[in-house]
Amino acid sequence: MIVDAYSVCPCGSGKKMKFCCSADLIPEIDKIIRAMVGDQRKSALDQIDRLIAQKGPRAALLTCKIELHKLLHEGDAFRAAVLLFHEKYPDNPNSLVFLAELHAIDGDVASGVDLLQRAIEISDGITSEMRSLFGILGQMLFAEGHFAAARAHFVLFEGLASEQTRETDPDLLRRFQNSRQISPLFKKGLVLRPPRPNAEWRDDYLGVIELCRKAHWAQALERLVALAQRFADQFEIMHGIATICGWLGNDELSIAAWRRLPALPGIDHDDAIDAEAMAQLLEGFVDADAFEVIELSLEIDDLNNALERLKSQPRLRSVPVSEQEGDEGPPPRAVFLVADRVVADRAPPSGPQDTPNSIPILMTVISLFGKETDRPARVDFQLIRDANYSEQLAFLKEALGGVTNQVESPIGKIGFVGNLLRQHCFPVGELGAMSKDSIDHREFPWHQIRSQVLPHASSLLHGSTLAQASQDSALRLRAEAYLLNLSLFIDNLSWEISLNDLRREVGLEPLPVIPEEAVRGNDILLHDCARVPRFDLEQFSDSLLEQMLITASYQSMSATSVRCAKIILARPAMSDHSVAILAHQILSSRCDDDAEFKMHVFRAADGMAKKDHSPAQMLLEVLFESWQKQFRTSFSAILERLQRQHSREPGVKETLYQFLVEIGALQQNIAATPPAAQVADAAAGIGTAGVATGAAIWTPDSAASESATGKSKLWLPGMD
Ligand SMILES: [Zn+2]
Repeated sequence: MIVDAYSVCPCGSGKKMKFCCSADLIPEIDKIIRAMVGDQRKSALDQIDRLIAQKGPRAALLTCKIELHKLLHEGDAFRAAVLLFHEKYPDNPNSLVFLAELHAIDGDVASGVDLLQRAIEISDGITSEMRSLFGILGQMLFAEGHFAAARAHFVLFEGLASEQTRETDPDLLRRFQNSRQISPLFKKGLVLRPPRPNAEWRDDYLGVIELCRKAHWAQALERLVALAQRFADQFEIMHGIATICGWLGNDELSIAAWRRLPALPGIDHDDAIDAEAMAQLLEGFVDADAFEVIELSLEIDDLNNALERLKSQPRLRSVPVSEQEGDEGPPPRAVFLVADRVVADRAPPSGPQDTPNSIPILMTVISLFGKETDRPARVDFQLIRDANYSEQLAFLKEALGGVTNQVESPIGKIGFVGNLLRQHCFPVGELGAMSKDSIDHREFPWHQIRSQVLPHASSLLHGSTLAQASQDSALRLRAEAYLLNLSLFIDNLSWEISLNDLRREVGLEPLPVIPEEAVRGNDILLHDCARVPRFDLEQFSDSLLEQMLITASYQSMSATSVRCAKIILARPAMSDHSVAILAHQILSSRCDDDAEFKMHVFRAADGMAKKDHSPAQMLLEVLFESWQKQFRTSFSAILERLQRQHSREPGVKETLYQFLVEIGALQQNIAATPPAAQVADAAAGIGTAGVATGAAIWTPDSAASESATGKSKLWLPGMD
C-alpha cells in the first residue's frame, strides 16, 4: 500500500487518515494514488468521481480530483472543482490554496497573496502546494513590478526547497539577483530590525518576528499595526510595517510607512535617506516622469532589397542571429543594432576629436522577418517616444527604402534613468566606436548624466530639478534619496561615479567615509548596500574584503564588485586564495579586451582546477560570452581547452555541439537530437580540423554574419 491508516490525510487537515474524512476510504484512496503515480490519470479521475457520487464531496476526494484536473490541464473542470471545494470547506487550507491559485490564474495577484496567507495561518506548516504557490505568485508580483514582494516570495520558495525539487526548480531567486533592472536596495532583501533591549514593546515585537519566521506575514502586520497605535513614534515598529507591507505586495501602504519614518524623532539621517529611497523605488523611481515605449512593426514589400540597403548603412551593425525557432514563430532573418549616428568601423585613435557628444548611442535593435502565410515581410523594433522619436522613425523608413504599412502599439513607459540604463545595457564592444580606446570612461558617463538626468524636472521633486531640490529644505531629502537610487543604478552600469560625486555635482555636501571599525561587528555589509560606496575598501582587511566581494557580486553591484576584485588581486597574499577565482570571473565578465578576457578566464579555470573543481561549466559559459563579445583569441583558446581537457566530462560534448549548431558554426542537417556518436564526432572534428584550419568553424573575425543574412544551409521561413 502507498497509503495506510497512519498516512496524513490528503485533505490538508494535517490529521492521520484514520482520524479524518478519509477514515472509511483508505483502500480506495490507495488505489487512486497508485493510478495517479502509474500515469493512469483518466482512470483515477473516474474512480474519484464515482466515490464522490457514493460518499459525497469529501475534502480528501476533492483534493485528489483538483490535483488530477491540474495534471490533465483541464482548466474549466479545475475551476468548477475549486469553487465547489471552497464553498463546502471555506476553512480548509487546501481549499484556500487552490482558490489562491485560481485567483492567480485570473490575474488577481493581491487576493492570491491574501488567500495564501490565510491558508498558512490555519495550517500546521507549509505544504509543497503552498511552496510552489510562493513561486507562482512571486513571478506574477515580479511581472507587475512589486519587487519587494517578489523577492520575499522567491526567498521562501527557495528556502523551502527539498533535495528532490532543487534539481528541477526554476532558479527564481538567482534570476532576480542577476537582473540589472532591479535596484540593489531590493536585492539586499528587506528584514525586520532587532528591537532595542529596553523597549517597552520588546516582547510583542519579538512575537511579530516569530510570526514572520513562520511566514505568517498578514498576522504579523496586524499585530504591528496594533502596536503602532500604542507606540506611535518607534522606528522599528514603523520600519516593520513598511517592510511587511512590502513582502505582501501592498506597495501603497508600504510607501506611506516608509515616508512616515524620516519624521520620527531622533532618526539617523542615513536611515531617513534609505526610507525615502525605498518609497521612491516602490513608487516606480525608474518609471517616474515617463516616456512611452512604442513597439513598431514596419511592413515591407521587398525583404532582400531592404536587407541590402541596411547592410550598407553606416549607422547599423549586423549581429548574429540564433537559428532556433522562437516561441512565437520563426526566427528573424537578420538583426541589426541601430546607433544614433555613424559608427566607425574601427575605434578611432583617441584624441581631442572624440568628445562625448560624438559617441554613438544605441537607438534600437531591429529584427527583419520574412513573409509568413498570414503576414507580409516586416521589421520589428521598439522606440522611446522622446524628442527624437520622429527623426529616428523617419531615418529607419528611409533606410528600408519604403514601407507599405506601419503598426504602432504602446507597450509601457520608461523614465529618464530607465532610458539611460536601456541605452547602456549592451556590451560596450557591440558598437564599434565605443571600444575602450575611443572614449574617456569618466567623461562619457558624466556627459550622459548631465544631459539626460540632472536637468530634468521630476514629479518626485514636485517639478524641481535635482540641483534646485537640493537647495530647498522641504525637498532636500527627496533629492538625496533620488541621488542614492541613481548612484546604485550607476553601479550596475560599472560607471565609476559615486554617490558623493553626484552630490557634489548638485551642490550637496559629500557624505563622510565610513571607517572599517563601523563595518565590523554589525551586518552592515549584508543589509546596507546603500553605504557600500562610502567604504574605504583599500583599507579593508583581507577577510572583510572577501565578504564584501561576495556580497556585492550577489547583489550584482557591478562597479563595486570590480573595485573589490582589483584590490584583491593586487594583494599577493590573496591571489592564491579561492576568492581570487571569483575576482577573475568578475573581471572577465566586465572586460572589453580580448587578451585580458582570456587571461582572467584561464586564471579562474586554473584556480578551480587547483581546488579539484572542474571548470568545464564555467568555460562553456564564457565560451558563449567570448562569442558574443567577438573575442577571437579567447574563443579559440577556450574551445581548445574544453576539447583537450574536458570533453570526457558528462554533458560537455553535448552542450558544445548544441552551442556550435546554434551559432551556425556547425550545420545540423540530420535529426534534431544528434545521437551520442555523432556528437562525439562533431566535437572531435572541431577540436582538430575546426580550430586548426578555421575551415569548418565560425570564428568572430571570419564571415561573422553569414548565418544571419540568409546564406545558411538551414531552412528559414521565407527562403526561396
Ligand atoms: Zn481529511
